[in-house]
Amino acid sequence: MKQEYLKKFFGYDRFREGQETLVDGILAGRDVLGIMPTGAGKSICYQLPALMMEGITLVISPLISLMKDQVEALNQAGIHAAYLNSSLSLPQYRKALELAGQGRYPIIYVAPERLLNEEFLSFACRTQIAMVAVDEAHCVSQWGQDFRPSYLRIPEFIGRLPKRPVVSAFTATATAQVRDDIIDLLNLREPLVLATGFDRKNLYFGVETPKDRYAAVKAYLKNHPGESGIIYCLTRKAVDDVSGRLIRDGFAATRYHAGLDDAERRRNQDDFIYDRAPVMVATNAFGMGIDKSNVRFVLHYGMPKNIESYYQEAGRAGRDGEPAECILYYSGQDVITNQLFIENNRDNQELDEFSRALVQERDRERLKKMTFYCFTNECLRDYILRYFGEYGDNYCGNCSNCLTQFETVDVTEIAGKLLGCIWTSRQRYGTTVVIDTVHGAATAKIRQYRMEDNPYYGSLSKVPVYRLRQVLQYLQMQEYLTVTADEYAVVKLTARSAEILDGSQTVTMKWAKEQSRRPSAAEGAEPETGSRTGRRKRRGKAAAQQGGLGDSEPLFEKLRELRMEIAKEEKVPPYIVFSDKTLTHMCIVKPETKEEMLTVSGVGEYKFGKYGERFLDRIREEKRRTRES
Ligand code: ADP
Ligand code: ZN
Repeated sequence: MKQEYLKKFFGYDRFREGQETLVDGILAGRDVLGIMPTGAGKSICYQLPALMMEGITLVISPLISLMKDQVEALNQAGIHAAYLNSSLSLPQYRKALELAGQGRYPIIYVAPERLLNEEFLSFACRTQIAMVAVDEAHCVSQWGQDFRPSYLRIPEFIGRLPKRPVVSAFTATATAQVRDDIIDLLNLREPLVLATGFDRKNLYFGVETPKDRYAAVKAYLKNHPGESGIIYCLTRKAVDDVSGRLIRDGFAATRYHAGLDDAERRRNQDDFIYDRAPVMVATNAFGMGIDKSNVRFVLHYGMPKNIESYYQEAGRAGRDGEPAECILYYSGQDVITNQLFIENNRDNQELDEFSRALVQERDRERLKKMTFYCFTNECLRDYILRYFGEYGDNYCGNCSNCLTQFETVDVTEIAGKLLGCIWTSRQRYGTTVVIDTVHGAATAKIRQYRMEDNPYYGSLSKVPVYRLRQVLQYLQMQEYLTVTADEYAVVKLTARSAEILDGSQTVTMKWAKEQSRRPSAAEGAEPETGSRTGRRKRRGKAAAQQGGLGDSEPLFEKLRELRMEIAKEEKVPPYIVFSDKTLTHMCIVKPETKEEMLTVSGVGEYKFGKYGERFLDRIREEKRRTRES
């Protein structure tokens, strides 16, 4: 039966990893906690059992946009669902409650603040509640990033119900601490806990250090016309700047940050979701609750404050499981910007001085790990997975490091001179001054600090600046030196520095092989780090691995047009009609009959009834056209 429902309503032939276990747990009446990365398919884990259980399922969700999207998708799949939140007027709210009371909706999304509202409570007590599903369950924990005090009242609500329903909880981010909090604070009873791996195999990870970030972003967009993606910036100012320039350069971009008024934010978000403006430039205020499945790339115009944020933001790419790219464009300034954020963070008013200091200390540590991500030579995917306590296999073949050739070099001499410079200038300066000194630059600062008189001035004039930076960063990772975590970012020696200064230790590191660096016209900006260029052909390779389109590209475009037509008629986002993945699969199967069409992943009976024939027509038409030409 569950298999049947999976196909009929959602159009899928198979469960993904973890889904079936959670569905079975719920159907057996157990509480469950599902920890799965973004895009793994958490919603089906509660939506499917909700359809099979006697009574209503309440889904508690923190964000209005998220509810709206989910309810739209369910309605498209032929499932009656509704949401109850502050976006409804009072008459609308009452109407929805009335219909709910008549048993119209098997699934109702509700905002946590509503739960103990009298009207809602009396409704909930009159009807049979089969399950309470808590989405984004980490919001209950103060250790999580998105703590929502109203989540703490969920158990109280459940306690008020005449009969305790099954309680299921789902999240994409859970360190051990958060996981324990979810179980405790939501009062889960001997829950079935299932955590699938965090790896997102369809995502490519890259780090680049272009001299001109804007040029790099622009080149990227040029190379990926028509694709939808998000560009994250660190500040509102950067968002305005980058989005303005992109629009002037002719890209269909829009923007989002907390400084815009509600109306503009909503409008821009819709433009993005409906693919009217497929490129979104935004601060981290954008994204939670955005379920857009056809996001093909997430570019970071600046490094976020920690790996948690990065993985969450990058993870918004490729939710449909198709290849997608996550590229971080790093610049040294990002560290300083983030340090300032940390020093000035007064977000949580409830913290006393002592706790605040602790939080800041933790934040600095996380920032350091994020910075190392930008400099590591190891597999980037592995680096992230290890951060979350998983072990990868050191080589993924789908990140900028795995695709770069490295060589091992002896940097003892460079290291010695860098440390010597720091020592003789009495550990007073930041990385730029140190590097400029040994490189022999003649900047105003160098003169001001009289670094021309430093014994190491110009001693490494033949080593390119970006290499010096890499060595300095490597020394920091190996704790041969440290950088103060304030806005001055002063380089200091450590207990280990002596090993290098007294010559007792040789230092070797891996760095990217120097290639003939020929910046292609499309690439625009020359990458500062030499040979991180292996990426270019990768998309083709990844696409081929996952069943690439090849000659079907025109068909894909035709189907995409049709999808847009239908989306406009139905006033829903295109990806709600069919995902990119489903369209791709259609191009491979090229179905001509209903039976064939139903074998396509994402096409269920209900959706076939609505649009199946129109898609079949387009496919037949296109086949005829190619036969004739
Ligand atoms: P999450 O909430 O975990 O981030 P979603 O529930 O939004 O993820 O699902 C992500 C995407 O995966 C959606 O497009 C969904 O339709 C698709 N999906 C979910 N389960 C399956 C499945 N068993 N087979 C194929 N696609 C699936
Ligand atoms: Zn890798």
